[in-house]
Amino acid sequence: TTFAELKLAEPIQRALAEEGYTQPTPIQAGSIPHLLEGRDLLGLAQTGTGKTAAFALPILNHLLLNPRPARPKGPRALVLAPTRELAAQIDDSFKAYARHMKLRHAVIFGGVGQGRQVEAMRRGVDVLTAAPGRLLDLVGQCHIDLSALEILVLDEADRMLDMGFVRDIKRIVALLPKERQTLLFSATMPKTIQDLAHSLLRNPAKVEV
Ligand code: AMP
Repeated sequence: TTFAELKLAEPIQRALAEEGYTQPTPIQAGSIPHLLEGRDLLGLAQTGTGKTAAFALPILNHLLLNPRPARPKGPRALVLAPTRELAAQIDDSFKAYARHMKLRHAVIFGGVGQGRQVEAMRRGVDVLTAAPGRLLDLVGQCHIDLSALEILVLDEADRMLDMGFVRDIKRIVALLPKERQTLLFSATMPKTIQDLAHSLLRNPAKVEV
C-alpha cells in the first residue's frame, strides 16, 4: 500500500512526503481505510509501529473534508494519553502532519500551570490531546466543552488502566456525544481492556500488528 492509495487529502500527502514517509507502516495500512470510512477501531500495537499517524492522519483528513458544524467551539477530536510526555509527542505529530492545513491543536496535562492551557481552550481548538486528570480538572472548571466532539482516541489504553485512570476515562466518556467515532489502541489486550473496548466501541474494526 502507498499513502496515495489510502486517498488522504493532498495537504496531508505533502506533509508526509516532507517527513520522509514513503509508505504506510502495517498499523497505518491496516487502520486508515477503516477510519476513513468512519468505523470504530480496536488497535493492538506497540509504540514505534507508527500508531500515532494511524489515528492522526484520518482525523486530519476528516477535519479537512468536513467544515466545523455550527456547534460549540470545543474540540472535534480528543486524544487521551497516559503521560504528559506521550501527550506532548502526539500533539507534535498533529502539528507536523497538519503543516499545510489550518489546524488549531492543543495539549493539556498536569504538573504545570493551567493558564496557557485555559487560554488555548478559550481561543478554540480542533484537536485536543490530553492526560485524563488535567482534562477533568479543566472540564470541571467549565474551560472545556466536549459537546461537539466527533472523534475520541484512547492511546496506550493498557497503560492508562495500569495508572488507575479507568474511572477518569469513564467520567470523560460520559460527557461525550453518543454519536461519535471511537478508537482504542493498546499494546496488550487483557480482560480489562477487552471490557473497556466492549463498552466504548461499536462494531470496531480490529487491527493487530
Ligand atoms: P509511533 O509508533 O507513532 O510512536 O511512531 C514511531 C516513529 O515512526 C515516529 O518517529 C514516526 O515519525 C515514525 N513514522 C510513523 N509512520 C511512519 C512512516 N509511514 N514512515 C516512516 N516513519 C514513520
